[in-house]
This record gives sequence, C-alpha cells and structure tokens, in this order.
Amino acid sequence: MAAFQGKSVLVLGGSRGIGAAIVRRFAAEGAAVTFTYAGSRDAAARLASETGSTAVQTDSADRDAVIARVRDSGPLDVLVVNSGFAVFGDALEQDPDEIDRLFRVNIHAPYHASVEAARRMPEGGRIIVIGSVNGDRMPVPGMASYALSKSALQGLARGLARDFGPRGITINIVQPGPIDTDANPEDGPMRDLMHSFMAIKRHGRPEEVAGMVAWLAGPEAGFVTGAMHTIDGAFGA
Ligand code: NDP
Repeated sequence: MAAFQGKSVLVLGGSRGIGAAIVRRFAAEGAAVTFTYAGSRDAAARLASETGSTAVQTDSADRDAVIARVRDSGPLDVLVVNSGFAVFGDALEQDPDEIDRLFRVNIHAPYHASVEAARRMPEGGRIIVIGSVNGDRMPVPGMASYALSKSALQGLARGLARDFGPRGITINIVQPGPIDTDANPEDGPMRDLMHSFMAIKRHGRPEEVAGMVAWLAGPEAGFVTGAMHTIDGAFGA
C-alpha cells in the first residue's frame, strides 16, 4: 500500500504507544515521516531505523520549540499531534506547576502546532489531534486536569475548522478509550474498572487508533472536519 506516497507527515510525540503506531502506519504507506519525542531517545532511534522515518527531540511543553519544529518541517500534508499525558491524584493535593505543564503539552502544543502547520499546508492538508473519550466522559475522580485538557481539544477543532476550511485544510480529533500502551497497560490495576464501563471488554490496540488516523488523513475524509471521532469500545456510550 502506498496511499501516502510523496506526502510529508509530522507526528508530535511518536516514539512510543499510539504515536509509534501512527508513525509505522504512515511510513508503511509511503509517507516521508518525521516524529518528535521528549525523553525516549533509544526508542525513537529504533523506530526511526525500523521505519525509515526521522526522529527529532522536541519537548511539546516548550511552545516556541514546537512552533519552530513545525515551521522547520516545511509544508506538511499531514500533522498529527499525539503527545499528551495525564496527572493522577486528588486535585487539592496536586502541584500547580505540574498541572500547568500538562496544559502546555495537552492544549497549548496542539493549538500552536495546528496554527503554524496551517500557514504552509497545501489545499487538502490534514490536521489530526489525539484527544480522549475523557473529553466526553470522566467516570472516576483524580483526572480533572486531563479531562479538561481533552475537552479543550473539542473547541480547538470546532473553531479552527472554521478558520482552515476555506483553505481546504481539515482538523479533527480522535478520541480513544483505553488503549494498551505504557501509559495505560492492559495488565495494569485499573483494567477491570475500565472494562466495566465498556461494551467491548478489552483495551484497544495502538494500530486500531492509527487506522482511524490514516482514514482521516486520506482522500475519503475530505468532507470531515471540526469533528470528534471516538474509538473506545463504547466506554463513553
Ligand atoms: P505513551 O505514554 O505510551 O506515549 C506518549 C508518547 O508521547 C511518547 O512517544 C512520548 O515521548 C510522547 N510525549 C509525551 N510527552 C511529550 C512531550 N512533552 N514532548 C514530546 N513528546 C512527548 O502514551 P499513549 O500512547 O498511551 O498516549 C498517546 C496519546 O493518546 C496521548 O495524547 C494520550 O492522552 C492519548 N490517549 C491515550 C489513551 C490510552 O489509553 N493509552 C486513551 C485516550 C487518549 P517519549 O517516549 O520521549 O516520552
């Protein structure tokens, strides 16, 4: 398959988990892929060598570095913003600096990267941000900052779709439920609780999320924008 032959793709946060599956999918379909990472230098180097992609270290918490990375990537056909994390625990006990860092990575980076990418994207450009079903449903305590950050992406997509639509650029949010990654391993302590909310009682696989991202980036999705696309085994239903 070479559906993305000749296309330039940047994945923010691509060294592990869902991001790595997205890198593999686009690379397998012929795209020239660059991806960023924060700390996992070895994992990033292995993935780059396996897929023929390019790995660059860029902390998504650093606004100016994110903007420079997008700008220096040249005209992109596809931008995927995947980097993101959760801080768990009692909101009354949490370190405000850590919460602000979460907002920088999970909200500010998607906004600034999307705007910077749209400056140079050709018509037909695609922006896809990885949100979460927790933007719709937060059934447990201790994750308010994460839920807030993923809900914010819904407004980002709805608003920027209006700005970018006349230029032929789409922007969409993919909202996974529990996906088996380092951040949320299926054999972790929350497994039974999470599965109790779901109709399909298993964690999703990163490759399943990458499949939805590839469809949104492809030619069949040109009329799809400003929308949330949930892939969650009915966690949020
Ligand atoms: P992982 O923790 O397994 O991987 C996160 C990836 O993002 C890594 O490549 C990591 O780089 C990168 N990253 C994290 N912080 C930064 C940063 N500051 N700068 C640059 N890169 C960064 O997470 P998942 O694959 O599980 O999650 C990916 C996305 O999917 C996140 O946005 C998450 O919120 C979302 N999501 C995940 C779900 C799940 O159940 N797994 C469910 C719903 C949404 P490095 O390797 O260098 O640390």
